[in-house]
Amino acid sequence: MRWNGIRIGTVSRYLFPNYSACVKCNTTWNLVKMHKTKYREETYEWGIIRRAVGPLCEKCWSGLSIEERLLFYEVAFLARDEREWQKIKAAVLDGK
Ligand SMILES: [Zn+2]
Repeated sequence: MRWNGIRIGTVSRYLFPNYSACVKCNTTWNLVKMHKTKYREETYEWGIIRRAVGPLCEKCWSGLSIEERLLFYEVAFLARDEREWQKIKAAVLDGK
C-alpha cells in the first residue's frame, strides 16, 4: 500500500514510531515531503554550510499564509536559540 503524499496524520506516528512528523498535520516524514526553509549560509575556504529547517510538509506549508506559517515555526524553534530564531523568522517572512 502506498501512502506517499497523503496526510494521514497521527495514525502515522503509531505506524512509524521512529519518524518525527509535520507539526501541523502530524504525518510522519517517510510519508510526506518536508518543506525546507533555508535560513543560513556560511562560506568557508573548504566549502559552504547551508542550514535549513522544516517543521511543515510541502502541502501544509503551501496551504498557509506567511503569518500562519510563522506561528508553526515559532512553536518549533523560538525556544531553542534566540539568534538562530531571528534568522529563521527572517527566512520565513521572506517566503522561504
Ligand atoms: Zn503537514
